[in-house]
Amino acid sequence: MDSAKVFFKSVKSYSQTEEISRGARQLLEKVVAEENIKLSKRIPLKVHFGEKGNTTFIGPENFEGIIDYLDERKIDSCFIETNVLYVSPRTTGKSHMALAKEHGFTRLPAVIADGETGEDYAEVEIDANHFGKCRIGRLIAEEKQLIVLSHFKGHMLAGFGGAIKQLGMGCAARGGKLDQHANAQPAINPEDCKKCMTCVSHCPRKAIEVSNIPKIDRKKCIGCAACIAACPQEVFYVDWASTSPVSFRQKLAEYALAAQKGKSNIYINYALNITKDCDCDGRAQKPIARDIGIFASTDPVAVDAACCDALNKKEGKQVFGGFDIFDYAEEIGLGTTEYELSEI
Ligand code: SF4
Ligand code: SF4
Repeated sequence: MDSAKVFFKSVKSYSQTEEISRGARQLLEKVVAEENIKLSKRIPLKVHFGEKGNTTFIGPENFEGIIDYLDERKIDSCFIETNVLYVSPRTTGKSHMALAKEHGFTRLPAVIADGETGEDYAEVEIDANHFGKCRIGRLIAEEKQLIVLSHFKGHMLAGFGGAIKQLGMGCAARGGKLDQHANAQPAINPEDCKKCMTCVSHCPRKAIEVSNIPKIDRKKCIGCAACIAACPQEVFYVDWASTSPVSFRQKLAEYALAAQKGKSNIYINYALNITKDCDCDGRAQKPIARDIGIFASTDPVAVDAACCDALNKKEGKQVFGGFDIFDYAEEIGLGTTEYELSEI
């Protein structure tokens, strides 16, 4: 695979909102011009609305310049996201959109791509090592082009989280997230059950039976994770400990491949407010590294690799692990780690 172009704008501090907004727009213009990109009539912005209580996610004020650029060209857009696996305001569509509003994502419509409880997905064929098909949020799968806006930061399993994670995890429907994270089916804490039967009515495969205790028929269960979202007692959960980090990263890369398939995306990474844990963590975290700036490319692997290299160079040490994902992402054709960096 040929090397990819990555464009970079230095920003001294996350507090420089206008500079960030303007810089992101300049990078978008640069990528479009240099890569000769044909813009679609509709281009959703794939974002992360930030978990409730998280204070270091990339706020919508930093996307103003990009939205202005689309507005001036009369390109239809929205903020697009998918529901999460764990129990939080981001578990279901309505409360997820309410949180988006609370966090200031109001200039464009907020769209949850995988439905109210994460049940709405399209299967995208990739025929890779872990997955033949991936469950991508339907409204994302149906788009032809996305601008993927990612916060570059850490994650307990991925090691880092930029464009690849925003694609792989961020575009997967809830069942697809479960596929990546664990043994594809929820674990159960049966002693917390109050026998309300909500899970039974939400399970699309009639795989749950609640007599004395709730049980899942493992042959019927498709791992859609709807029960995790539906149960008010948090009886169903993801068994994170059963997840192998290397296998997780490979699965993440395969899902990213599916989410990208057939699309001419643009990736913009904000290497600012760099925290050890991800924006799904509902705590106020402190940045663990100095702010660097914004990176843009049409290649999700190259843009993440450029962020990692810049971070390690700036800090004088390897800050995050998990770099085996790059080799795997290259192997399956998601992108390349060979890049040419141009500062604007
Ligand atoms: S038990 Fe039912 S609701 Fe829960 S993951 Fe399996 S199929 Fe989905
Ligand atoms: S939704 Fe939860 S509490 Fe209600 S019956 Fe199912 S497992 Fe029990």
